[in-house]
Amino acid sequence: MAQEKEKKMRIIKFILKIFIVQIILSAFFLPCYALEKATHFEINEYIAKHKIGEFSLDQYLKEQLGFQEGVHKIIEQFEGQKIDDNPPKIFRWLGYGGKKEDEPFLLRSVRHFHNPLNTWDKAGLKGIWDSSIIWGQRTDQWPGGHYSWQDVRGYFLLALTSEDQTTRDYYFAETFRGLGQQMHLIEDASVPLHTRDDIHIIFNYEGWVKKVQEKESDTFRDWLADSGRYGYDKSVLNIAPNPLAPIPIARIIDTDKYNGDNPGITIDESIGIAEYSNANFFTKDTKFGDFPSPNWDNVQCVDYEIQDPRDSSTMVFRPYYKKNIDPPAPDGDTGYRLATVGYLYDYANRYFPSYISNVRLGFCMC
Ligand SMILES: [Zn+2]
Repeated sequence: MAQEKEKKMRIIKFILKIFIVQIILSAFFLPCYALEKATHFEINEYIAKHKIGEFSLDQYLKEQLGFQEGVHKIIEQFEGQKIDDNPPKIFRWLGYGGKKEDEPFLLRSVRHFHNPLNTWDKAGLKGIWDSSIIWGQRTDQWPGGHYSWQDVRGYFLLALTSEDQTTRDYYFAETFRGLGQQMHLIEDASVPLHTRDDIHIIFNYEGWVKKVQEKESDTFRDWLADSGRYGYDKSVLNIAPNPLAPIPIARIIDTDKYNGDNPGITIDESIGIAEYSNANFFTKDTKFGDFPSPNWDNVQCVDYEIQDPRDSSTMVFRPYYKKNIDPPAPDGDTGYRLATVGYLYDYANRYFPSYISNVRLGFCMC
């Protein structure tokens, strides 16, 4: 009897431990993942409603599908499609898809990484999870439904060919949601964290973008309106397919041209967005030495005048690493602030250079 009681207590304690760990993990991860979804939502809706490069979804829907209201056409929701935002217009379905690609919690988002310097079968997060390119072309996606490129094309076919209106509407909703989920994968590849294998817990770039989206909405909209900066060159779709994910859309993320030794190619040629973000930026946990580029030869230390964070009425100088304008060799994009110079490093370098080892001595002379 006592043994039985002890066994029960052990089971209860075990369940309690799991519960507590779950709560801690939720508190830890939720802020960054939840915030990120709202950004995908707004980006997708914007793209759906505006002409990007030569393409306008609104015009396509009017001219090719005969939808007079274009992206404002309402596609009703059905059981299992719980869109929160009403009325469910087409542009909203794309936004919804952008958000849903990160659900359920963590289980899809760990497949949203692609390091272009690895072979695609090892390019995912820590080489363990699927690369986002492979994930986007897997017809056995689980959990969270099936929204691979092939699945979404299949929904589009059913939307166009099914006999009754209800079935057609159901598949149109799935098509536009799925398109939003595919867009999410490309958007993530623009984020250096997602292409430099950095899991980005707590504060991260995506959290900062969300802060701008919430607190400086005009600035965020200005970024979206600068659509000339986020189109892609269609010629990349003609590059020979990589058998690991052969559908040409993969090339928008990775053209297999950048190999770590040739960062100049990321601005000289049409390139995958993951190659550009990997070669030209740092992340919190990947700086000098973690990836071939950017490296010490690509930066110079420059003092920028910024608002004093302790007193907004005065200005102070702050050293930053700036991507070189005149590099010794082609080395990718130039002319912007890459990272702040660490104050401790800067102080030690100025006054105690002999104490610094394993870093480039005398580098920061500003
Ligand atoms: Zn994601």
